[in-house]
Amino acid sequence: MKTDVVVLGAGIVGVSVAIHLQKRGRSVVLLDRQGAGEATSFGNAGLIQREGVAPHLFPQELTTLLDYARNQSTKMRFEWGALPRIANFLSQYWWHSRRASYRAIVEDYSKFIAHAVSEHAPLIEEAGATSLIGKAGWMQVYRSEASYRAAVAEAESHRRFGVDFEALDSTALRTREPAVTANLAGGVHWTQPWSVRDPLALTQAYLRLFEKLGGQFRTGDATTLRRAAGRWEIDTTTGAIEATDTVVALGPWSDGLLRRLGRQLPLGVKRGYHMHYRVRGDVGISMPIYDELGFMLAPMARGIRLTTGAEFALLDAAPNPVQVEATEPLARADYPIGERIDPAPWMGARPCTPDMKPIIGPEGREGLWLAIGHAHHGLTLGPATGRLLADMMTGATPFIDPTPYSVTRFG
Ligand SMILES: Cc1cc2nc3c(=O)[nH]c(=O)nc-3n(C[C@H](O)[C@H](O)[C@H](O)COP(=O)(O)OP(=O)(O)OC[C@H]3O[C@@H](n4cnc5c(N)ncnc54)[C@H](O)[C@@H]3O)c2cc1C
Repeated sequence: MKTDVVVLGAGIVGVSVAIHLQKRGRSVVLLDRQGAGEATSFGNAGLIQREGVAPHLFPQELTTLLDYARNQSTKMRFEWGALPRIANFLSQYWWHSRRASYRAIVEDYSKFIAHAVSEHAPLIEEAGATSLIGKAGWMQVYRSEASYRAAVAEAESHRRFGVDFEALDSTALRTREPAVTANLAGGVHWTQPWSVRDPLALTQAYLRLFEKLGGQFRTGDATTLRRAAGRWEIDTTTGAIEATDTVVALGPWSDGLLRRLGRQLPLGVKRGYHMHYRVRGDVGISMPIYDELGFMLAPMARGIRLTTGAEFALLDAAPNPVQVEATEPLARADYPIGERIDPAPWMGARPCTPDMKPIIGPEGREGLWLAIGHAHHGLTLGPATGRLLADMMTGATPFIDPTPYSVTRFG
């Protein structure tokens, strides 16, 4: 079978890229070894983070670093046995998080993430997925006056990027979320972001939209990709496919494929876990809430989903859900969560670059393109990435400057 483009990976990023290319009249085959959206895009907190102009940086203060290094925080965990293999990524991540470089990263990133909601909106509409979407925003809550005040000051500084929020003191919080019994100093309510009640269902709805537009989904192993007679070839369960262009959108597995193709990038992963709980009592939570104790609670179709912070470990190492075990009692003490629903915690791996920006654009070899490294914001940035890459691949004027996302920044 011959096609214009094969997109490798049917997570939220790959499906979004496939839709945008199909819309521009390219014939597209989307390939995955499992169903669309069943890997990382399955288990996230469901936030479309319009406000996320400042990507998650690596801590710089010595005391915080020491806490994290001793695995004494619920927010971050290090699998120290993995250090020899992740040290390069970690050191570069720390380096890019220094004040001066970070400031420049935020300037770039804020221009991209500004399109998060506006790029999802038409796809959600076309995919008939509006029932999956919450538009109440989400909240970060703080236990101490000092951290509440610091959070409000930081939020204020993001207003210049078009971000809006409401500061809620403890009384306002209690009125807004009556089922939350925590002794909170206050919270920041981000009012513009949307949330997704079932991220898997959203990716599946986008896949159906892609198929309605004439695109085809195939099952296969991306590692069979090869170059032959000036075209890309790949095996699927229903035969080989030949394509002029190939897009790598394999999330945390992109690094593995690129290494097979001889390209070494300083990529890493931050693993994370989730668990669903029944609502305890009659009243749940009205929107996703991040508690500074190091967990997020999001009302989902399946129950309240608790998601954890970052775990620095190897992609394929056995799951170690200690962050779920550590945060579950904290969440249960103060939030309306009842018994567990899932038999075991789900684990996923955020696909990360050391400078916190995704890689979007040409790889360098003819017909090879990248849409990888979306870290904490893959759900947020999937459709915006699809549009940007489709602009570049079809010779249209990119809707934002793609330079900050070029792979050439890594040499
Ligand atoms: C706990 C947690 C919470 C998060 N919360 C949020 C949030 O609230 N908002 C947000 O924006 N982001 C969030 N994220 C991040 C977000 O989930 C990811 O950035 C996003 O899912 C990455 O999408 P992707 O399409 O790049 O990767 P994936 O969804 O992993 O897709 C890659 C696809 O490639 C396929 N694949 C891999 N190897 C092969 C192969 N050899 N052959 C064929 N197919 C292959 C996989 O099966 C998979 O379907 C969170 C992540 C975690 C872990």
